[in-house]
Amino acid sequence: MDLPKLAIAALGGTVSMQARHAGEGVIPTVSGESLLALVPELTNMARVTVETLGLMPSASLNFEFLLSVLSWANYQVEQGAVGVVITQGTDTLEETAAFFDYLWNHDAPLVLTGAMRSAGQVGADGPANLLDASRVALAKNSRRRGVQVVMGAEIHHGTTVRKTDSLALQAFSSPMVGPSGMLLEGTVHYLREPPRRNPLPLPQQTSQEIALLESTLSADSLLLENILELGYDGLVIAGFGAGHVSDQWADAVEKIAKKIPVIIATRTGSGPTAQSSYGFIGSEMDLIRRGALMAGFLCPRKARILLWLLVGGGRQDDLGVFLAQD
Ligand code: ASP
Repeated sequence: MDLPKLAIAALGGTVSMQARHAGEGVIPTVSGESLLALVPELTNMARVTVETLGLMPSASLNFEFLLSVLSWANYQVEQGAVGVVITQGTDTLEETAAFFDYLWNHDAPLVLTGAMRSAGQVGADGPANLLDASRVALAKNSRRRGVQVVMGAEIHHGTTVRKTDSLALQAFSSPMVGPSGMLLEGTVHYLREPPRRNPLPLPQQTSQEIALLESTLSADSLLLENILELGYDGLVIAGFGAGHVSDQWADAVEKIAKKIPVIIATRTGSGPTAQSSYGFIGSEMDLIRRGALMAGFLCPRKARILLWLLVGGGRQDDLGVFLAQD
């Protein structure tokens, strides 16, 4: 039987980490080829090509590098891969998943996975996650769903998934909506219809900088007031509650929003921002009046990714349309 083609790339992260010597901390050293060797079942399921595109902790990934990974993944699909799997660190997985989902322009699935236990740890979850991610990438019902994150036998959509625990084995969740699917006895099940997707073209420039600040009690406004002088091209604020800031910050937001896009998200970790509930100074209604946009269901970090991509494509005027979708 002619097996489908599956492309896998390793970028690093805990899934690729082990200690060089006893007592030392783990660092990324395990290649994609070595990860694949831990999942021999895969060779009966697909013709697998594997590449090690990086061996980095995910904190050190950056947008330019992700664009090169995307171009590699595009090429794999053009060459006939029915799906693509990328292994990486979990610390920024929620951000890379959104980044890729906004740009992924194929019916074929792009699936991200990683591990919470390093390669040499007893009960390492990397091989099982890689096998599950490959199952999802190969499954027909994964088509036209964009980017999925597969961890601990759960499937989460790229725009909803968040890392909600620092060390737990089950560290990922999609607040409010839950997983988009799951693996049951090795079979891929989806719980929702495929999302409406509107992939963006590649950004024409990559030098834009988008700041992300969090509102905190009795915070000074030194950084905020200098955002324009510092040369930022956009600002996301992780606001209080339903998307609120202090009266002092509200004045600064008004000045900034006259020059660059400002998005107000919620710092709570779950729930959307409001639109028309509160009228005090610094509330969502006040901030909208002052020119800010509300992030809706997008978390602050994903809102920053969206803004970076839109500014990079000269499409910041479309921001409202994209925020209204989520
Ligand atoms: N703790 C992280 C991980 O799970 C490290 C990283 O993100 O690279 O992979």
